Amino acid sequence: MRQFTESVDHKIPRDEVVFFYGPEMKPVLEVNPGEVVTFETQDCFSGQILTESDLVTDIDFDRVNPATGPVSVRGAEPGDSLIVEILDIRTAEQGVATIIPGYGQLIDLVESPITKVLPVRDGIVHFDEKIQFPARPMVGVVGVATGGEEVINAMPGRHGGNLDNHMHGIGTKIYFPVRQPGGMFAVGDMHASMGDGEICGTGIEIAGEVTVRFDLLKGKQAVWPVSETEEAWIPHGTAVDFQEAMYEACKEAATLLAREWGMSMEDAFIFLSVRADVGIAQSCKPSPFASIARVVLPKLEGLPGPFKV
Ligand code: CA
Ligand code: CA
Repeated sequence: MRQFTESVDHKIPRDEVVFFYGPEMKPVLEVNPGEVVTFETQDCFSGQILTESDLVTDIDFDRVNPATGPVSVRGAEPGDSLIVEILDIRTAEQGVATIIPGYGQLIDLVESPITKVLPVRDGIVHFDEKIQFPARPMVGVVGVATGGEEVINAMPGRHGGNLDNHMHGIGTKIYFPVRQPGGMFAVGDMHASMGDGEICGTGIEIAGEVTVRFDLLKGKQAVWPVSETEEAWIPHGTAVDFQEAMYEACKEAATLLAREWGMSMEDAFIFLSVRADVGIAQSCKPSPFASIARVVLPKLEGLPGPFKV
């Protein structure tokens, strides 16, 4: 595993995991804003699939999608945003992808179950003897305590959870709506690479370490997590059906444009249509999973951004 040199204040081992986000989460660590924490993460199968003869039909599904944490951040109160800046993601040297009976857009055309083992060496994914490509490490499950409901880690929601946005890689900041004191952040489901849609239901599922810096934005939040990259602001929306997720993501984006950028709803509607990119983060169907839509709002001169203070 590659070394990371920034100074880290705390490290959480990979056996400190939760399998759902709820309103009452007990922290394994409390930190101050500005502190840097490394989370060791298990792969989404909790290490139950290691070879091509380990099949997804044989595993214990109660141990799927562990998220390491949660971490409480001092001073985080309902109404704030908890800012999580992803400083680094270091993957293990082997991940797996699977085809799951009954899941995904092409399931009628293939054999299932299938496990494919994918070596990841020096940042390169070895897909087969001929095909290699650069890893695009990201975290699929990222979230905070909910306002009231208990949501298993396989599902996304207003708290985050299984957002499966490949843009959640190194350098991205995610603004989570704090709904319980401390926020209670937990992370897992690392992928060495995952495509938009995640149509077979897995990325390159892999263990590893993710290092983040916590910060707070007082008194401002969106409904869903909103992410920030160097080039864009990225609101999300989630629902069972993709069209509904797209509606929620567009409504969230337009609400931010209207509230923070002072646009009329009509101008926001037109702006989203002419300049923003609405996309699929994950929508593996059929499956019991929900769909996640995102809107990529470009950072433009003259537009301050939805969370500018
Ligand atoms: Ca996922
Ligand atoms: Ca996954």
